[in-house]
Amino acid sequence: MSGSASVRSRVADHLLEIPRSGIRDFFDIVSTRKGVISLGIGEPDFVTPWRIREASQYALDRGRTSYTSNRGLLKLRQAIALYLERVFGVSYDPETEILITVGVSEALDLAVRAVCNPGDEFLYHEPCYVSYPAVVRFAHGIPVAVATRWQEEFRLTRAMVEPHVTARTRALLLNFPTNPTGAVLTREELEGIAALARERDLLVISDEIYAELTYEGMPQTIAALPGMKERTLFLHGFSKGWAMTGFRLGYACGSADLIEAMMKIHQYTMLCASIISQEAAVEALRSDEDTHRMRDAYARRRDYIVSELNGMGFPCVLPRGAFYAFPSIGSSGLSSREFALKLLDEENVACVPGSAFGAAGEGHLRCAYAASMDDIQEAMVRLRRFAERQSASRR
Ligand code: PLP
Repeated sequence: MSGSASVRSRVADHLLEIPRSGIRDFFDIVSTRKGVISLGIGEPDFVTPWRIREASQYALDRGRTSYTSNRGLLKLRQAIALYLERVFGVSYDPETEILITVGVSEALDLAVRAVCNPGDEFLYHEPCYVSYPAVVRFAHGIPVAVATRWQEEFRLTRAMVEPHVTARTRALLLNFPTNPTGAVLTREELEGIAALARERDLLVISDEIYAELTYEGMPQTIAALPGMKERTLFLHGFSKGWAMTGFRLGYACGSADLIEAMMKIHQYTMLCASIISQEAAVEALRSDEDTHRMRDAYARRRDYIVSELNGMGFPCVLPRGAFYAFPSIGSSGLSSREFALKLLDEENVACVPGSAFGAAGEGHLRCAYAASMDDIQEAMVRLRRFAERQSASRR
């Protein structure tokens, strides 16, 4: 409008600086195409097990359609406490130390907002889940990446973290098994990081969303190590292990004061998680059978995809958890975005460029094997053809 004063952006400055998720960006392109085989989505291809769906239907039939306590249904918190004691060997008081949230997504946001003063630094390992740096910035904190490398199986050690700790470091975000690398830490590595957290008075925010999809042995959490429960926020949920993404259900566990602080934000912003989903989650925790069945199916797909990728000259570390293969595509001479776009364009296969998971993800491709074996096999045929063409064109 002529003569008007210059218009300031209506969007908050700090939001303008945060890029859109690289995954969203890429899938906007994928959605314009037909017949794509997608290894792109980080979501189980299994439908939620029947007994869990039935429990949610039964909740509706009984007219269970109200709000719940802000903390969530007590019977669900009690079921979670028993489950965590049995599987992870860590005990939480269902009355004061557990908060039911809308997915791990909300738990993560609450955890960071509850502890972050402006300018506080949050360490996280990279490549990592796309939300971590963004959530820290939403809270006016400063995300600090610690790069991990495929040559070291994307492991994180005390020696890698320590140089990044400053007087402003508030917390360390951990996600093992990791999205997008499938990395899992050994007990010794967890112990080293725990010792550092104790010595430097760091809080650990541990995102355990893929714990049930650990392929060897029982899942391990840093929260169960001596002196760590009181300085760890343990975040978990039902999306991956129970194939319940659409139920939007998660939880946070930690010391009563931190859970109370998270509750304060939750009660004003979310009020509570859906009662129908909470009823379904009580049923989900009654048995491990479905989770183990899905984990074993992912394990078979993992073995196949990793051997295929290595066979085509894309070195791929064996993922020890989650459902992602993260091969190096360095030999192609293309950036990860160029590679993913070209693969989509020429072969109609969608994988996520590693750069979407931070600078340390460059040179990689995330291939989710939460897809049918038929789709994975066909995707590998096409990828091999693509790789052969690429290498012929460089000769
Ligand atoms: N944390 C990680 C590491 C994830 O990969 C995801 C989803 O992909 C989430 C959290 C979000 O989980 P939810 O569906 O429980 O919000």
